Amino acid sequence: MRRAAIVLCALAGLMAASARAQAATAVPGRLIVGFREGVSSSLQKRLVEGAGGAVRAQLPHVRAAAIRARSHVALGVLERRLRARREVSYVEPDFYLAVSRVPDDPLFANEYSLGAVGPGSVDAQPAWDSRTSCSKIAILDTGVQYNHPDLSANVWHNSHEVKSNGKDDDENGWVDDYYGVNLVNGKGSGVDDDGHGTHVSGIVAGRGDNGTGIAGLCWSSSVMAVKFMDSSGKGSTSDAIDGIDYAIHEGARIVNCSFGSSKKSSALQDEVDYAKSKNVLLVVAAGNDGDNIDAKPVYPASFPEGNVLTVAATTSTGALASFSNFGKSGVDLGAPGDRIFSTYLTSTYKTLSGTSMAAPLVAAAAAMLRAKDSSLGYADIKNALRNHTRADAALAGKTVSGGTLDVSAALAAVH
Ligand code: CA
Repeated sequence: MRRAAIVLCALAGLMAASARAQAATAVPGRLIVGFREGVSSSLQKRLVEGAGGAVRAQLPHVRAAAIRARSHVALGVLERRLRARREVSYVEPDFYLAVSRVPDDPLFANEYSLGAVGPGSVDAQPAWDSRTSCSKIAILDTGVQYNHPDLSANVWHNSHEVKSNGKDDDENGWVDDYYGVNLVNGKGSGVDDDGHGTHVSGIVAGRGDNGTGIAGLCWSSSVMAVKFMDSSGKGSTSDAIDGIDYAIHEGARIVNCSFGSSKKSSALQDEVDYAKSKNVLLVVAAGNDGDNIDAKPVYPASFPEGNVLTVAATTSTGALASFSNFGKSGVDLGAPGDRIFSTYLTSTYKTLSGTSMAAPLVAAAAAMLRAKDSSLGYADIKNALRNHTRADAALAGKTVSGGTLDVSAALAAVH
């Protein structure tokens, strides 16, 4: 991720965002504090308030809380007071995560990635002979244009919630979460005001065989919009954690994470662990710095947890994209991420490049495998995808598998 990046940033359009690289790396005035086992939520609150802070959100699955300093207390003072408490295991900034953007290609758009021939394709067409539908998949991103004509049929909605009545009708802890959830505003649907999440969603599940626009790898699916990044493609770690909680609570077992940061958050790592305990696979973009992340880790891509599947970006010729991060132990496989044509805001289409575009192809394949066999665990799916790639010399020694996504082979590998 080229952006300074404690923000979980969506990983497309990196270069366009470079002008913003000097932005703050953490949410001003905020911290995440982690507590030791057995510290109740009420005690957490008292400890924070006693130190001069206020709890913004509790993150119960990771025994942490997002907090802010009260107006008369300096953040550094609050941090020191909390660190001195034996009930506290860590205090960290509420890092930003952000998208990584790469320049558009306005000249030509195609779907080489899904084509039948060519070194850049993922061998989708033989897979489509047996299956075109996929399981539910959460898109942790900037939201989704839920009424895009090429997406709307595939967008998940919460049938227990009433739109825009200001209430948490289904008492799941989120207000007015009808078309997914908006964690930036703290209420409402996951409506995209950036475009990144809509593009990612079209790669997963642009409606197929409808005589319109494009086809995603999944012709039909249930795409859950979990908006935690704002209109500049930036969101906080604490909202990302809340977003993973949301996805799990609403039944997604595949989560696409086209964002990252060079900053390591203990709270986010604990949430990845929690997701693992719920059998959830996180498909993560490797980032767009052109770096070896074994030497320069980025997160969540570099977390060692077994339920993280990290994806590099390849081109139409099967080369490693120049912007793509790589790593012999930290990156699992490649997938097309250069000049990818997909859905965009205002019911249009756009060509974008980035590992943000590569991860959702793999996430879609994961959801296709899970639709074939809902008993598959995260490890089964990860192994099927990683152990049945198409060998690619450009990825040898630069990824665990040394290959690119092969949807047909992975699908055939599960029964
Ligand atoms: Ca609700």
